[in-house]
Amino acid sequence: MNDSWGNIARLSKNEIRDLQNGKLRKFISEQVYPFSPHYRQLFDSHKIRPGQIRSIEDLSHIPFTSKLDFIGATPASDKFVDFILQPDKEKIQKAWPLFRKLQLAFLSLARGADYTKNKISSEYRPIFTTFTTGTTNRPVPFAYSDYDIRNLYLSGARMIRSFGMEDNERGVNLFPFAPHLAFWQVVFGGFSSGVLILSTGGGKVMNSEGTVAALLKMKPSVIIGVPSYVYHVLRLAAERGVKMDFAKKVVLGAARLSEPFKFKIRTVLESMGATDVSVFGTYGFTEARSAWVECPAPPGISSGYHLYPDKEIFEVVDPETGEVKKEGEDGEIVYTSIDARGSVVIRYRTGDFVKGGITWEPCPYCKLTVPRISSDITRLSDVRDLKLSKIKGTLVNLSHLTSVLTDFPEISEWQVEIKKKDNDPFEVDELVVYVAANHGVKTPELSDAIKRKISAATEVTPNEVVFFNLPEMIKRLELETSSKEKRIIDARPKV
Ligand SMILES: [Zn+2]
Repeated sequence: MNDSWGNIARLSKNEIRDLQNGKLRKFISEQVYPFSPHYRQLFDSHKIRPGQIRSIEDLSHIPFTSKLDFIGATPASDKFVDFILQPDKEKIQKAWPLFRKLQLAFLSLARGADYTKNKISSEYRPIFTTFTTGTTNRPVPFAYSDYDIRNLYLSGARMIRSFGMEDNERGVNLFPFAPHLAFWQVVFGGFSSGVLILSTGGGKVMNSEGTVAALLKMKPSVIIGVPSYVYHVLRLAAERGVKMDFAKKVVLGAARLSEPFKFKIRTVLESMGATDVSVFGTYGFTEARSAWVECPAPPGISSGYHLYPDKEIFEVVDPETGEVKKEGEDGEIVYTSIDARGSVVIRYRTGDFVKGGITWEPCPYCKLTVPRISSDITRLSDVRDLKLSKIKGTLVNLSHLTSVLTDFPEISEWQVEIKKKDNDPFEVDELVVYVAANHGVKTPELSDAIKRKISAATEVTPNEVVFFNLPEMIKRLELETSSKEKRIIDARPKV
């Protein structure tokens, strides 16, 4: 499909901003305000007239939307339905400008009333959903109409083009089969790009031995999936002593990704004969029903995620004050849709924190002029349950702990358990790190290094580092048996 990058990806910043302002105005006054029960109520209660929102700067008049807005006191009172655009004849008559109503009337005359009715109905009627992956919060469904499926095709096509997959290349998609965005974004991306992608469904559907066999059969140049699972499968293949010289690109998503981890992926593939391997990160979230990708850059460098300014507006705000940050400044990522149907969010606070913010400098690698968001993102979904945990009386940011252990070159797999000494609720906390080390690593030295690095990053020193062999660690992590790995276990009694 024509991914229409060509129409926007060479425009200047001012031209893109003009395009976004025009789309935003139209979207708010012709779609969001008239058809979204949630936003109509929000605008009315804050005395915001839709006509007031004329440019990106005006967005700051609109209160933020957060995850809590989707959730009611009980599952039965959940409010996600209020975010779905729900037009009817009367609302359309009231909200749409004269020329659009004339267009509609003309179509009705020419093709019959049923034709326009069906056309409107298929533009808005939900036909597909994905769910948020919250573990503490209730999962929230996000609806797609046919219109949104086309957008999903489009973002998929843009992603596949960004990382340079050609028609004659094959891919294997290892994302878990679930009503989650990552799996389906890849499936739809493959359809719209006309490339062959095998979607295995991940370890729970096709176990990892089967996945290795599928890789060897398909010989894909592109391997796509969750970082920890892709690493697990590649390592398993490496242990079998097989060749994977066909692999050229690895695309990772749905979890935090660092340059040291990309290096680990490249190293294991090179051990199987692959050369010039590029590893790409992606960023996406259910509420946007879209994902964004890095483009090819030299090893060790991230191009940032290339955004779709014709589909959305990104803001970076101060997490405390909500004030909008300038280009390149750190802050929380806020998302606004400007071209969607189904479930629509405006000024949605992702809870994800980006270092380096957004840049409008043309990309030095692929030359596109679209805005790019820094890939140094701490994702809420990574740390939702365990963002800050008090361990031994110290407030520990568990995402720092995760970074230290994931990026450690000598560590093959790891798990952390926080528990009470002797399982006595009145006793002190203990932090235990379980590790499967790479072959040939001296464990006493590694144990000391782990303690030192964790202590430097979190101000808490692990009580113990316990070593397991890899198969045991994989069992402990439930990498093969569960769709969500058991990376950090808080075994302390809940108080
Ligand atoms: Zn680029």
